[in-house]
Amino acid sequence: MARYSGPVCKLCRRESMKLFLKGNRCMSDKCAIERRNYPPGEHGRRRGRRPSDYQVQLREKQRVKRIYGVLERQFRRYFAEAARLRGITGEALLMMLERRLDNVVYRMGLALSRAHARQLVRHGHLEVNGGRVDIPSYQTKQGDVISVAEASRKMPEIQLAIENAKAGHIVGWLQVDHDAAQGTVAQLPRREDIDIQIQEQLIVELYSK
Ligand code: SF4
Repeated sequence: MARYSGPVCKLCRRESMKLFLKGNRCMSDKCAIERRNYPPGEHGRRRGRRPSDYQVQLREKQRVKRIYGVLERQFRRYFAEAARLRGITGEALLMMLERRLDNVVYRMGLALSRAHARQLVRHGHLEVNGGRVDIPSYQTKQGDVISVAEASRKMPEIQLAIENAKAGHIVGWLQVDHDAAQGTVAQLPRREDIDIQIQEQLIVELYSK
């Protein structure tokens, strides 16, 4: 399936939550969720019937896929891998998504959104441990040093992201030196480090049918 290229604010309205897909706009009063927090489309404002268990599980899965920008086939692969690991499958799934290079770049504040981070990675603007990595799904490891390539540090959008991040909060499992445009995966993320309101157990139930 091709990557979705339509208006992304519709996705937030469909999921009734901010998915933070548009960088600075998400923090402004222009955010569509702030102005029109009901599903898109002709019947968006109508009160529908109580959703079935399946619909609730499906929506939860769609939310996570959209937040991390992962397609269905890849998402299923993550789930299969998470199910093979010891521990709680839903948490393992979220941990793998969090460790994706594009997510880490975004979390470090080196990009405006995950989509922006994915584009920067694809275009070769990021390095891991001094070597160029252009695979957004690259699974970062503890101790990995992620940096913006020297020649890309002056890019206006990267500079803007860094300025925003300096005033914001960086998650505890990452250490970032914004002046050097680089950061380190100090430790692997734990469930409590992920501030997204997701009931990952619903995804496990969906895929376990
Ligand atoms: Fe979602 Fe951001 Fe659009 Fe708001 S501005 S609806 S958070 S993508």
